[in-house]
Amino acid sequence: MKRHQPSLIFVTGGVLSSIGKGIIAASLGSLLEERGFRVTLVKADPYLNLDSGTMSPFQHGEVFVTEDGTETDLDLGSYERFLNRSLKKEHHMTSGKVYHSVIQRERRGEYLGSTVQVIPHITNEIKKQILAQDESTDIIIAEIGGTIGDIESLPFLEAVRQLFFEMERTFCLHVTLVPYISSSGELKTKPTQHSVKELRSLGLNPDMIVCRSEQPITEEARQKIALFGNLPQHMILDNPDHSSIYFVPEHLEKQQISSKICQALGLTPKNNHDPLIPWNIITRALASREQHVRVGIVGKYSDLADAYKSISEALLHAGLPLKTFVDITYIPAEILEEPNTDFESVFEDIHGIIVPGGFGSRGVEGKINAASYCRQSGLPYLGICLGMQLAVVEWVRNVVGIADAHSAEFTPQGKHNVFSFMTDWVDMSAIKHERSEEHDKGGTMRLGSYVSDLKHGTKAHAIYYQDTIVERHRHRFELNPKYIASMEKTGMIVSAVGEQGLVEMVEIADHPWFIGTQFHPEFQSKPRHPHPLFLSFVQAALQRQQAAVTGAAVVSDVCSPALSTE
Ligand code: GLN
Repeated sequence: MKRHQPSLIFVTGGVLSSIGKGIIAASLGSLLEERGFRVTLVKADPYLNLDSGTMSPFQHGEVFVTEDGTETDLDLGSYERFLNRSLKKEHHMTSGKVYHSVIQRERRGEYLGSTVQVIPHITNEIKKQILAQDESTDIIIAEIGGTIGDIESLPFLEAVRQLFFEMERTFCLHVTLVPYISSSGELKTKPTQHSVKELRSLGLNPDMIVCRSEQPITEEARQKIALFGNLPQHMILDNPDHSSIYFVPEHLEKQQISSKICQALGLTPKNNHDPLIPWNIITRALASREQHVRVGIVGKYSDLADAYKSISEALLHAGLPLKTFVDITYIPAEILEEPNTDFESVFEDIHGIIVPGGFGSRGVEGKINAASYCRQSGLPYLGICLGMQLAVVEWVRNVVGIADAHSAEFTPQGKHNVFSFMTDWVDMSAIKHERSEEHDKGGTMRLGSYVSDLKHGTKAHAIYYQDTIVERHRHRFELNPKYIASMEKTGMIVSAVGEQGLVEMVEIADHPWFIGTQFHPEFQSKPRHPHPLFLSFVQAALQRQQAAVTGAAVVSDVCSPALSTE
């Protein structure tokens, strides 16, 4: 029997990188999902790293972790936030992963003595990886990273060309930039014309062009682009800048993107729903925000907001049901290390602090000082992974009274490492490892989803309103259980425990809102389903702000987990 063939939509980028083709791919994925199709998104990154795990957030933004523990590009985070499904390792490919697999096969002699070449061996592997989606998939949307004209992406584009020839239903959506020259008041189509020409020289014709621009494109620009692209004018869409990425599905669907693509692919939508129904709820919520609250993120990469992408998105999501704009101030942790830091003035007008995850020693003492300030001043604190570890270190140093407490990440020979490799006290053979042997730096990394049990009577339990949670991890060091008794005796409570008794959450009992999570809650927040911890944290920040205005004391409270945009 002939295998069910999925439709293939390729998203390519022209002119410049970072013009938001990931958001366009994700928006299209969501609209097609709402039309009843089983959609999957694949990101093909042309770099040679095997995954994004070893890449600096400075260069590439955050490393997003999927539930199966794959360390991926931040575009996968956007895909998950837009789609109703979670993604896995097969949804992210890199040149490194493709070459690695071909070279391994060559070593095993699987090519039977033939000369192993880019065409056909690398291109065949790319095709195989793109098509390796589960049987029920109706539509695969593959975003080809980089820009047309890059040397790196050539094998991917050659594989795409071959798939156009081999598969029945294919579509190429080309996303380009149409710059606006303010001095002459003109939209310039020339770069788009060139990128289409370049695409054609690779044997690919766009079926639709989405023009990214500062403003809606004019009829004249549309006509020109259609003419040079060999396309009817209705296949030239625009996507001007929006105040939020969550307006993109609505903007594209107003130009009937999903029905035009379904028609071109010969697909009949599986339902008659308006695909914008879930997005209307979100755009309405975005428009009905009426108050502001400011949160400080104390981190290492304060110059690059993309390094904390999922956190800033999770804050935005949490603000929606609370009708609140959550404004963010990025505070470089190093400035909090100066001996005479005036914390009152640094944190003035900030009503909640997040210390995010991180690796390496830069700014660590500044993050500890931030936790200390929050502990003593009642400012809401959410410590994520490293932010949780350092809040515990601060507590053990200054409340329990062990002055040289630290984490083995920073003091490998230290006498009082509250955090260290779990091999110090557990049998590692019983712990799940998702990383493969090629990750030299990852032997002990805990990656992906793990279950934890919440303790009744804690704030964490009241916030989640459930006994068991599943959250994503990306870290090496764990809280050594020998410190738990002294922490709890002095008021820092372990509120969630995972496999092998590993500590997953802590909280300060006598504090308006002070919670640390060993996991990364931000990876599971979606605009349609704000994460309960972020929701509760933003609510606490609002209370703190209110108290600052009225002079009232902040009470320890938890929000209703029933709050949702739906
Ligand atoms: N560097 C710490 C560890 O490896 C924390 C990691 C993180 O914050 N993601 O345990």
